Amino acid sequence: MSSHNTIYLDHNATSPPSSEHLEKAMAVFQQSCGNPSSPHSLGRASSVALTKARHAVANALGVGVGEIVFVSGGTEANHMGTVGVLQHKGLFSKNEKACVPHVIYSAVEHPAVGAGFEHLASQGLIKATVVPVDSQGKIRAQDVFDAINQDTVLIAIMAANNEVGTIQPVLELGQELHRKRWLQQPCAESAHLQTIHFHVDGVQAFGKIPIEQWMSLGVDSVAISGHKIGAVQGTGALFMRKGRKCVPPFLGGAQEKNRRPGTENLFGIISFGMACQDSVLQTDWWSKIKAMDDRRQMLFQAIAKSNGVVMNSCLKDTLPNTVNFSVGNGEDLLLMLDMNGICASSGSACSSGANLPSKTLLAMGRSAHQAKNAIRLSLSWQTSDKDIANVIGFLEKAIK
Ligand code: PLP
Repeated sequence: MSSHNTIYLDHNATSPPSSEHLEKAMAVFQQSCGNPSSPHSLGRASSVALTKARHAVANALGVGVGEIVFVSGGTEANHMGTVGVLQHKGLFSKNEKACVPHVIYSAVEHPAVGAGFEHLASQGLIKATVVPVDSQGKIRAQDVFDAINQDTVLIAIMAANNEVGTIQPVLELGQELHRKRWLQQPCAESAHLQTIHFHVDGVQAFGKIPIEQWMSLGVDSVAISGHKIGAVQGTGALFMRKGRKCVPPFLGGAQEKNRRPGTENLFGIISFGMACQDSVLQTDWWSKIKAMDDRRQMLFQAIAKSNGVVMNSCLKDTLPNTVNFSVGNGEDLLLMLDMNGICASSGSACSSGANLPSKTLLAMGRSAHQAKNAIRLSLSWQTSDKDIANVIGFLEKAIK
């Protein structure tokens, strides 16, 4: 999105819905704004709208319709796919004899995953192995396999990082897990691996890289979020593979087949379904993403030439919309960008209120100063060549 005086390059925080999208979603909502659980005609119309949206999200992810649970966003979906799964395994019940469950996650997970594990570990309820990343923010799949022990119950690895855009080897992990679980000779290892839940935070990857191609193998649950793909905020989904289970985040009604109580956010869900229809499910979607990637590469190369800049994103194995770099005074540059109508971010949106060094960049080996002075520019498929040329022109003058 860019109006004549604003260039919006913060799509990893939120990709704002277009007016056309809002009008289309509102028109459907107005025809079906009852409660999907009500038995009368308006209730039935709402239930039909809900089902239609569920089909769109399931198709966009390449999974079964019954495997989609609508939730309030990526944070809730991640909570259910991690803490909710541990709860379902009965791991926090008081049992002196029970061993402490072991989980594996990466050093660059979003707080929607990492904070839950940190809390549980601080209470002595889990043991955790935090897999390190290299200077590009990437884990090694082998490190995850090496960390598995007899108490391991859950692995959580993000598909792509929100700050620097690094794509993790989730496909490789899923394929290998699938092979070891089901294709090798049955043995103690395969039996144990079948019980380990593999959760993926797909919030940033969904719609930017074709993660639906990963779904058939090894992955047990995936979190996605509507507002990252042009739907309204406050909606998301958890893919939970048939046969895998988690405890709902709270108690209440039987909505979402007892998996997520509470009257559904129908307008949000309609918007989410439409956003899937208008993106991933369009035949020309991936060519639009390719064009966006070309623009990202142009921006990347221009910034990389500037004096005193440290690139935190890479050209390869990175989301096709994300460029992250550190400069001498990132806070000032962010302010100048804003004053010149360019919306950018200092890293993860959730921590940008407080000026703390980015945990992701520290994990990648950047200094505290570099980790505090990072700028993230994140494009959408609608970001134009002119937007990119204007931003490059501005940065060339601002970074000397
Ligand atoms: N996971 C990742 C990788 C994210 O980038 C975000 C949000 O930025 C979330 C989870 C949380 O999603 P939501 O904002 O929908 O709660």
